[in-house]
Amino acid sequence: MTMTVKAYGATSQDAPLEPMTIERRDVGEHDVLIDIDYAGICHSDIHTIRGDWGPITYPQVVGHEIVGRVAEIGSAVTKHRVGDIVGVGCQSNSCRTCAQCVQGHDQYCLNGNTQTYNSVDPADGTITQGGYSQAVVTNEDYVLAIPAGLDPAKTAPLLCAGITAYSPLRHWNAGPGKRVGVIGMGGLGHMGVKIALALGAEVTVLSRGAKKQSDALAFGATRYVNTTDQAALAELADSFDLIVNTVSAGLDIATYLGLLDVDGTLVNVGAPSEPFSVPAFSLVPRRRSLAGSTTGGIAEIQEMLGFCAEHGIHPETELVSAEEINDAWERVLSADVRYRFVIDTHTL
Ligand code: NAP
Ligand code: ZN
Ligand code: ZN
Repeated sequence: MTMTVKAYGATSQDAPLEPMTIERRDVGEHDVLIDIDYAGICHSDIHTIRGDWGPITYPQVVGHEIVGRVAEIGSAVTKHRVGDIVGVGCQSNSCRTCAQCVQGHDQYCLNGNTQTYNSVDPADGTITQGGYSQAVVTNEDYVLAIPAGLDPAKTAPLLCAGITAYSPLRHWNAGPGKRVGVIGMGGLGHMGVKIALALGAEVTVLSRGAKKQSDALAFGATRYVNTTDQAALAELADSFDLIVNTVSAGLDIATYLGLLDVDGTLVNVGAPSEPFSVPAFSLVPRRRSLAGSTTGGIAEIQEMLGFCAEHGIHPETELVSAEEINDAWERVLSADVRYRFVIDTHTL
């Protein structure tokens, strides 16, 4: 017998999100039932519903930045207890046996991991439904423990925005002496700035206009550069070790490759539908690299949560009710988010 919960989702590519009910599977022996308290709004939610990444099946409920309380556990669950404050991010399962899963890189599962929404659930063959809802049932191994030092109301965005920034910064060794640039200061970008600073790097924010300058400097950024100022950008040529691109739209990537020093890397985490145009000579004469990265493995997410608790890092959030979700999406699309919307799921 499945359980019916309230949610907010889409019935088509173009329709506004609306209240609906969805089914959650039975709590299996390795499952955890989570009463959701907070769900972050990620730009990927919007790309998915609006068909930017290809057609999907509707109705669809999105949301992969989930924080709540354990309401029930399956008979074999050992990792979580009823009442624990927990989280769920982008992956809700993976094969566990491929070369990537074995190394803890379940975000790169070679057999295709189960995303928290818009994926086929191996448990029952249904399409997974995300966190804009009252409750979710998730395998215990893909449920994160939220450290006591983190405020649950501000923690949901760490489950995607936080880890998506943290993983490449760690992989490419952001730290003391490293000159790091972050392109786009939205949900991912502002977490990238805070985490890179906590890792000890020198951090330059690359953002359009001057609207976010005072915030960037308040976060501790070393420098702020208005990317619409061509002369200011030109002065940064050959000056970065690492640049993280978090922009949700197409970008003249060659301009930013030109800002990398010899052996520098530009890691793209943004996921626009438009392709990048990469001239050979933006890479070749400086042995530069253009790379990509997605989220992080479950173990790394747990590590990142501990890092944020230890360093007192939290996302800047604005709490919204269910009926404000459509407006919040419009504000994300116009880059008018400071810096992550979080849905109070009790208002569903
Ligand atoms: P967001 O909050 O909307 O931030 C995106 C930022 O991109 C904006 O704040 C803006 O920064 C900049 N931007 C937007 N439109 C632009 C344009 N036309 N030209 C130049 N800059 C523009 O989005 P998010 O939630 O951080 O997500 C960012 C992207 O990463 C999305 O494509 C999302 O799907 C993707 N994503 C990827 C992963 C992954 O695993 N790789 C995970 C999560 C999200 P400024 O105002 O500062 O210029
Ligand atoms: Zn996301
Ligand atoms: Zn795998």
